[in-house]
Amino acid sequence: MFNSGTIVKVLIPNIINSGYDYRLPVDAELGTFVRVTVMNRPYIGVIFGIGTSGLPSEKIKNVQSVLKWKLSVSDLQWIQKMSEWTLMAPGAVLRLILNVPDAFDTPRMEQLYAYNFDVDNVKMTQSRQMVVDAFELNDNEPMSISDIQNIARVGPSVVKTMIANGMLTPINSRPIIQSYAYEYRDMANIELNSEQRAAADAIMRDVDAAEFSVNLLDGITGSGKTQVYFDAAWRAYSAGRAVLLMMPEIALTTQFIQRFESRFGAPPVVWHSNLTAAHRRDIWRGVINGEIRMLVGTRSALFLPWQNLGLIIIDEEHDYSYKQEDMGNYHGRDMAILRAKLSNFPVVLASATPSEETMNNVEMGRYGHLVLRSRYGGAQLPTIETIDLRENRPTEYRANADDTDMRMGALSQPLCDAIGETLSNNHQVMLFINRRGFAPIVQCQRCGWVAMCPDCSAGMTYHKKLGKLLCHICGRMVPLPKNCPDCGGDISMRGAGLEKIEEEIIARFPNVRTALVSSDTMISRGALERLVAKMESGELDVVIGTQILAKGHHFPNLTLVGVVDADMGLFGTDFRCAEHTFQQLFQVAGRAGRGQIPGRVLLQTYQPAHPVLTAICNGDRDSFLKSDMAARRAAKMPPFGQLIAIIIECPKENVLKQFCEHLASVAPNINGVRIMGPVMAQIYQIRTMYRMRFLVAGDARAALQPIVKLWLARVRPPANTRIKIDVNPMNFM
Ligand code: ADP
Ligand code: ZN
Ligand code: ZN
Repeated sequence: MFNSGTIVKVLIPNIINSGYDYRLPVDAELGTFVRVTVMNRPYIGVIFGIGTSGLPSEKIKNVQSVLKWKLSVSDLQWIQKMSEWTLMAPGAVLRLILNVPDAFDTPRMEQLYAYNFDVDNVKMTQSRQMVVDAFELNDNEPMSISDIQNIARVGPSVVKTMIANGMLTPINSRPIIQSYAYEYRDMANIELNSEQRAAADAIMRDVDAAEFSVNLLDGITGSGKTQVYFDAAWRAYSAGRAVLLMMPEIALTTQFIQRFESRFGAPPVVWHSNLTAAHRRDIWRGVINGEIRMLVGTRSALFLPWQNLGLIIIDEEHDYSYKQEDMGNYHGRDMAILRAKLSNFPVVLASATPSEETMNNVEMGRYGHLVLRSRYGGAQLPTIETIDLRENRPTEYRANADDTDMRMGALSQPLCDAIGETLSNNHQVMLFINRRGFAPIVQCQRCGWVAMCPDCSAGMTYHKKLGKLLCHICGRMVPLPKNCPDCGGDISMRGAGLEKIEEEIIARFPNVRTALVSSDTMISRGALERLVAKMESGELDVVIGTQILAKGHHFPNLTLVGVVDADMGLFGTDFRCAEHTFQQLFQVAGRAGRGQIPGRVLLQTYQPAHPVLTAICNGDRDSFLKSDMAARRAAKMPPFGQLIAIIIECPKENVLKQFCEHLASVAPNINGVRIMGPVMAQIYQIRTMYRMRFLVAGDARAALQPIVKLWLARVRPPANTRIKIDVNPMNFM
């Protein structure tokens, strides 16, 4: 407790802040939220420690008021440690926690709008559908205009016309306050098998002891991981503690929410990036006042002001979506483990394809390993085979019956035969291709000109549904030129994306009912749910999707999965590409045959002997992991070495180059630490920014963060230059 009059350090949620000194007008505890002003602007901050500025007393302002909520001392330590690990300022970490506007105020009156389901005679366009989906994501509750725009990602004009044509109707302005005081009960009516029991017991021991531990819950899809962690969640919850279940956004499905509800008698509180400001506020308040003790959420749910956490479960722990890459770089899984360690509670990491980082921690004895070896009830695993494209070259197809010219296809005869057979049995097919749009390369046949984004150093993809060229880096859209802008020659489309595969399927299997699933078509969970419903009711025959479709859903009538280009991820420049491809293919393969009928997975490849593919076909995850980890160990790549990427961005190319040269010239020279760069980033230009990178590498025990910190303190970046630090980067673009 600090007495009234004490000079304390108050941390402000600002990306460069490490705390300012203020005088306390009343007694207050460490960690309490307070109102202060900085340069006459009001802020909510947190008492972070004793004042240290040494400023004369008359220069120190008073804290304006002390608020009723606080963070625990271990959470303050977490902010500090997370800052040291990620090299974000402590204020940047606090900003992740305090990212809910008005959490401390009475709700503002705002004009709200409801979606009018009865409106007639209006056209449903894609952007209007996005607005409908935004409502659906929020249980069709009224929303403010800013919520609608933010969640649907549409401009003001869309909303304006929808108000004018009656699709959106204003309702009496009132703040929505939702209570999340759900009553949970344990409604389990299943008995865990012995493997599951052993796993659940191990986690529960640590829950009961309130001891830090990390356990990897390792089992294929359908082995009962969810059952096991539900048991553990109940144990912590019923002991009065809070439970956070983290998931990638696309795994957070209605199917999952229904399962939670049937197990615990009430729905989970759900946290994700598409909630209205009012919901975010209510959930934030519910968590800090202890009313919400069971929540399912994405990465950012970790930053809710948790009180008395007793367990964090991280499902699909290997998933890349746990890594945050803008507004500060951090890994949600690792930061959850750090939080658990400082507050003494267990963490469960669940996965069918654990990351090599986690497997290494298991091997080193730092994490426990709880293995579920079989699918529950002995459900069959699909057979997985490769199709050698060298011997089975795809053939041409006619895009329209009356076309004279043929287009080169991407589907080989054996895959087409398998599709035909599956369709004739009235079963469903899923085809994967991790490429959006129609054609990734748009090129002049005469002079070789390639369509490039005018702002980024990236080629543009032709999107047939949009009828435009789209930059996948910055989202810029331009019309498809009729002829080459350089020489007037004919334009050709090269390579195949989702839309082209759909064209080929329809050409080869007339009357087939198809759907495309990618981030272009599935902008919201509502859209995905509609697709799932169509699959379940048998209104679709073939779904063609990117890996967005690889997660969570379970379709009993889906018996064939085809991977159009299994080689696509195998030869990247990134040391994680083999691991990542393995995880994706494994997950994709897991979609087939989860019902009564055994499934079949076909992988088209030019390299059937590639170790990733043989491991997938033989179901031999562990030997793949072993050899890939050996390769990484030899190359001193994470987790056997450490990397920190430094990305420097500046709108002026020459300023950037000079600054990077200067930075290189003052780089520290330390034994066992290599500083590589500067090099042009793989994507050298994004929008108006030019980009260069450095990479700092050291062995697993080197303390790289302080070295980077010291190094960067030696320079003063020029105006408009951004320095981004990425500890253990997963993205090398
Ligand atoms: P995972 O999370 O590993 O994919 P789930 O927990 O979803 O696996 O289990 C797969 C299916 O098997 C689910 O339908 C689940 O209800 C069922 N199941 C798993 N374990 C049991 C059990 N011990 N008793 C009854 N059903 C079970
Ligand atoms: Zn040309
Ligand atoms: Zn671009």
